[in-house]
Amino acid sequence: MCGIVGFVSRSTPAVGPLVNGLRRLEYRGYDSAGVALEGTAGIKVYKQTGKVAELDKLLKSALKTEAESGEYAVGIAHTRWATHGLPTRANAHPHVADDGRLALVHNGIIENYAALRAGLEKRSIKFISQTDTEVLAHLIAAFDKGDFLAAVSQALKQVEGTYGIASISARHPGEMIVARKGSPLVIGLGEGETVVASDVSAIVARTRQVVYLKDGDIARITPEGVQIYSLDNAPVSRDVQQVDWDLGAIEKGGFEHFMLKEIHEQPDALRNTIRGRIDRQGATAILAGLNLSPRDLAAIRRLVVIGCGTSLHAGMVGKYLFESLADLPTSPEQAAEFRYSNPIVGPDDWAVALSQSGETADTLAAVRESIRKGALVSGLCNVVGSTIAREAGRGVYLHAGPEISVASTKAFTAQVTAMLLMALKMGRTRRLSHEEGVRIASEIERIPDLVADVIREEDEIARIAAKYAHADDMFFIGRGILYPAALEGALKIKEIAYVHAEGYQAAELKHGPIALLSAQTPVVALLADIPGKEKTVGNVQECRARQAPVVGVATKGDDDAAAQVDDVIFVPRTIPEISPIVSVVALQLFAYHVARLRGCEIDQPRNLAKSVTVE
Ligand code: GLU
Repeated sequence: MCGIVGFVSRSTPAVGPLVNGLRRLEYRGYDSAGVALEGTAGIKVYKQTGKVAELDKLLKSALKTEAESGEYAVGIAHTRWATHGLPTRANAHPHVADDGRLALVHNGIIENYAALRAGLEKRSIKFISQTDTEVLAHLIAAFDKGDFLAAVSQALKQVEGTYGIASISARHPGEMIVARKGSPLVIGLGEGETVVASDVSAIVARTRQVVYLKDGDIARITPEGVQIYSLDNAPVSRDVQQVDWDLGAIEKGGFEHFMLKEIHEQPDALRNTIRGRIDRQGATAILAGLNLSPRDLAAIRRLVVIGCGTSLHAGMVGKYLFESLADLPTSPEQAAEFRYSNPIVGPDDWAVALSQSGETADTLAAVRESIRKGALVSGLCNVVGSTIAREAGRGVYLHAGPEISVASTKAFTAQVTAMLLMALKMGRTRRLSHEEGVRIASEIERIPDLVADVIREEDEIARIAAKYAHADDMFFIGRGILYPAALEGALKIKEIAYVHAEGYQAAELKHGPIALLSAQTPVVALLADIPGKEKTVGNVQECRARQAPVVGVATKGDDDAAAQVDDVIFVPRTIPEISPIVSVVALQLFAYHVARLRGCEIDQPRNLAKSVTVE
C-alpha cells in the first residue's frame, strides 16, 4: 500500500538514490522504512520505525565513508504502511530469507499467507516477523534453483492477493526481479542505471524515461535496462514513455488534489477492504481479527457504534445494517458525548469504535471507558497498530490505504463496507438465511464496480455543481439508511467548500428548518431506491413549493424520481444496505466540484486537522 524504490547500477552507490526516492514517497504516509543493499560481501539490511530521516541517520552511521557506501551499487528500499502485523522494526521491510542472502520488499496483501506460512514452518523455516510479506521471501528462496526470475514467478504463482515487489539475491549479483499484480510499479531507464519505484515521483530525479508494468508482469532489472515477461515466462513488450508532469502533479497521480485522487481510488480501496473476507460457501464473512466465535457473537445483546465526524456518520449507517441484517439493537454514539455521559455499557454489549487514524482522542477515551465497564470492544481503523486498534485488541482493519486529504472519503466507504461484512457475519450467526447471506455477499462483491459507476458520472456531477456553487446555504435530506448519508454530504461541503449546510432527516424539515427555504437555498435530496423513498419524494415537493431548487441523487432508471427534481445525479441500482455508499460517493464529488469552483484549499481546509487527537 505504500512505497517501493529499487536501484541497480554498476558503480553508482545505491544508498543515495534509494533514500532520496523514499523521501519522494513520504507524502503518502507510512509507519516504518528500510533498505537492503547488495555488494561484494553480500546483502545488508537496515530498518527503522518512524521516518525516513531516522533510517537515513542509521545508514549514515553504518556506512561512514564514501568508499563503504560505494560498495553497494544495487539495493531495494521500502516505506511500509502496515496491513499485517504492528509497525515494528521486525515487521518493517525488506524481509530476508536464505540466511540473509535474499531480500524482498512488497506492497499489497498476500491473502493466503497463513496457509503458506504453515506449510513453510512444517519445513522448519523460521519466521521473524508477523507480516504476510515474509512468506513470499521464503517461497522465492525455496524455488531458487539457479534462475532468479523463474524462482520469483514460481513463488508468485502460489500467492493469492495483490503485490508490487522488488527482490535481490546475493546468489544473483547485479540483478533485481520485480513484479506486479494490483499494486503499481514503474521502471525508470537511466544512463548505466535502472530505477524502480511504486510511484514515478521517486524516479523523475534520475530519469524521465519510464516503463509502466502491467498486472501479471515480472521483470529482470539490470544496469542496462529491463526484460519483461509474463508469469509463464513469455517475453512481453511495454512502451517506453516520457514523463513530463511536474512533481506535484505526479504525487497526486495526475489529479488536481489528493481528495480527488482518493475519491477515484475508492474502487481499489474497497476491493482491498473486501479481499479475502467473503466465505462464499458459508455465505458469510471471514473477519479473523474480530476473534469472536459464533457463540460469542450470539451472546451479544446490543451494539454501540462510537465515532466522531465522518466516522460517526458511518456508525449511524451501521445502525441500519446491524438492525436489518442481524436483528441486533444498535446505538450510534458521538464519542465525546458517550465518554462523559457515564454510559450504560456492560458485558452483554459490543462497542465498536470507528476511527480512520485510530488516534481520535474522544473515540479512544470511549474505548477505554467501554473496556473498564466490561463490554466487548473492537476497533474499526484504517491505520494498523494505531492506539485504538491496539487497545481494543480486536477489530477489522479497513485496508483502504493511506488517506492524505483532510476531508475523509475512502475511509467512510471502507468503514461502511467493513460494517456490512460484520453485519453479514453477525446476521449469519442469527437469523439471516444461507440464501439471504449469498445475496448480500454477492452484492458486497459488486461494491467496487458500483462505486466506479458513480465516478463515471463525474462530468455530469461537476456540471450540476457549477449550477449551485454560488449558494451559501444548502440542505441535504434523506431518510432511513440515507439519513446519515445526508449528514455526511452536508459535512463534506462544509469542510471543503465552506458552504453552510444542514443535513436533515427528510421528514424533520417540516419541524422548523423549512422556514429557511427559499430560491437561494438548494436542497440535495437522497432518493436512491430504499423503503420510504416515496416519502422523501413527497418532502421534495414541499421544498419546491417554497421555491428551493432541488438536486436529487436517484437510482439510474428511476424516471419518476428524476421528474420531481431540478437536477438529477444517477447512482447505480443496488440493495438498500449499499445505497449510502453509492450516494455518498456522488456527494463527495459534488462537494469537491463546488469547492473547486469556489477556489477553496481542498486538501487542507482552514481550521481542520486530519487526525483529531485533542478532545
Ligand atoms: N502487507 C505488507 C505488510 O503489512 C505490506 C504493506 C505495505 O504495502 O506497505 O507488511
